[in-house]
Amino acid sequence: MAIQILPDTIVAQIAAGEVVERPASVVKELVENSLDAGATHIRIEIGEDGRKLIRVSDNGSGLHSSEVELAFARHATSKLRSVDDLSEIRTLGFRGEALASIASVSRVNVTTRHVDEQLGTMLLLEGGVLQQRRAVGAPAGTVLAVENLFFNTPARLKFLKTAATEKRQIVQVVTRYALAYPDVRFVLEQDGREIFRSNGSGNLADVLVTALGLDEFKHMLPVEDEVTLASGDVTIGVRGFTSAPSLNRADRNRITLFVNGRWIQDTSLTYAVVQAYHTLLMTGRYPVAVLMISVPPSEVDVNVHPTKAEVRFRDADAVFSAVQRAVRRAVIAQAQTPTLRAAQYVSRGLSQDAGWESGLGGRQLGMGLQLSEPGDYARRGDALPEAVRDDTEIPEGPEGPLRPRTLPMLRVVGQIGASYIVTEGPAGMYLIDQHAAHERILYEQFMEEYARQEAIAQHTLDAQTIQFPAAEARLVEENLDVLRNFGFLLEPFGPNTFVIRSVPAMLADSDPVEVVSGIVDDLMLGKEPGQEAIEDRIVLRVCKQAAVKAGQILSHEEMQSLIRQLERCRSPHTCPHGRPTMIHLSSEHLAREFGRLGAVSH
Ligand code: ADP
Ligand code: MG
Repeated sequence: MAIQILPDTIVAQIAAGEVVERPASVVKELVENSLDAGATHIRIEIGEDGRKLIRVSDNGSGLHSSEVELAFARHATSKLRSVDDLSEIRTLGFRGEALASIASVSRVNVTTRHVDEQLGTMLLLEGGVLQQRRAVGAPAGTVLAVENLFFNTPARLKFLKTAATEKRQIVQVVTRYALAYPDVRFVLEQDGREIFRSNGSGNLADVLVTALGLDEFKHMLPVEDEVTLASGDVTIGVRGFTSAPSLNRADRNRITLFVNGRWIQDTSLTYAVVQAYHTLLMTGRYPVAVLMISVPPSEVDVNVHPTKAEVRFRDADAVFSAVQRAVRRAVIAQAQTPTLRAAQYVSRGLSQDAGWESGLGGRQLGMGLQLSEPGDYARRGDALPEAVRDDTEIPEGPEGPLRPRTLPMLRVVGQIGASYIVTEGPAGMYLIDQHAAHERILYEQFMEEYARQEAIAQHTLDAQTIQFPAAEARLVEENLDVLRNFGFLLEPFGPNTFVIRSVPAMLADSDPVEVVSGIVDDLMLGKEPGQEAIEDRIVLRVCKQAAVKAGQILSHEEMQSLIRQLERCRSPHTCPHGRPTMIHLSSEHLAREFGRLGAVSH
């Protein structure tokens, strides 16, 4: 092929790939423009998942009638004049690329009136090509509608995720900006239905309650700190909220960071937040945080990536320690007031992780010990019979014969560390992880009930409400039927709130709010869940929750009943997550370890 200069429309489409990957990126760019235009009220309407329609209306400055077309040209921006300006960006936009890119892959209808003008302008573009223009009466501000996104780039359409995922991403984007700009009123509507709103009160806590739900917000601690560097002229501010260790998640995605009002992704700063919880959270658990970091604009380079979600700091280490210090202070301040809540999380943490060091941990250790106090344990241990005669006859229940045995008959010897059951079988000693084993048992029972298409036994609750962050509430809504099949009856109850009517019977003793939020957490983790995966994840979570915990002292009868059931599991050797349920030390191995093998016995 001969070399050719690409026509502008194609160049714009290529650039569009960088800036507008998906409906949520269009929402992001348009909202940024509204914020840059000084809007105090931004309404975002989407049709379906945004592919059909994204309309952003603002009460910002509006565009001059002489500049409306220009705004859609590539590299047209009012936010940058010279290279020098690049080092002091105070606006969210500066590349002048978004409108051109968006217009090149959709049909755009914009109505705008500049505050200083009498008449507004209406423009219609298709694939970036001007179709219509006329003067119209309009309120000051801008209404920009993007229709049929990616109609002319079928390849990009193919890369979009399910409608549900795209919708969730949009909710996330809007929520983030609402958090970063609490004094701006945001309203998000989908197909005419309001799904998110912030009140523009200027109070971050107000937005956070809406974004996280009251249940989560109750665990959030205020962060407010400022560090002035030795040079004296650079001050780094960190404010926002971070979770008490009682609220934690399986992934880092709930750590939300903003630098000078811009949402950023930064693994290093995310790590700074996690680090601040050192020894306070189990490994693999992460806090929830929303932090506003402020630095002088000259200290940060925002011109790193087309989506502007990455930044580079002049003094990255200083920002890292400022964030870490601010969060650590907030968490420690809370931890120093022992409350009932603190005692709860400590005891829960203890049961699974003994990694409590440092002065702080030591003090809390005392608080958390109720569960497995040495005295208590010894007393109960003394009461246990030294060895109990094995009841080799297993009575057949009224429901007929039991399932075939998959393990030899095991005799329960005792419990160690309130976590492991020591048993003896024909081939030596079996050390069984009580939690993993119980998870396995419950999992097989649950799956059997489900396979027989029996309604899962339910436990009805007195009206218990649960509130979710908007994105999660959507996910719950989409999965109400699946959840019902597993015994969770949830009913929508006001914005992002549900009433939990019932849970599976095996969870009768668990905190329903904790169980349901655990499930939703797991569902959020799966990026592209197929039906089967969703169901699996629900079952896994239910079993995990219902199973006896490590750190729980079991009576001899309880241990025996657990072992009897494990002996008849299809796959008794692993828990449903694939971890081992038992360690086997053969008689031979024991003999060898004690130097008895081959030796003449005494
Ligand atoms: P950038 O935001 O990087 O400058 P855009 O392509 O997003 O580039 O926008 C181009 C220009 O159009 C902006 O610089 C701004 O002057 C104008 N503009 C875009 N959206 C709005 C809006 N909602 N209100 C007022 N002006 C706007
Ligand atoms: Mg812009």
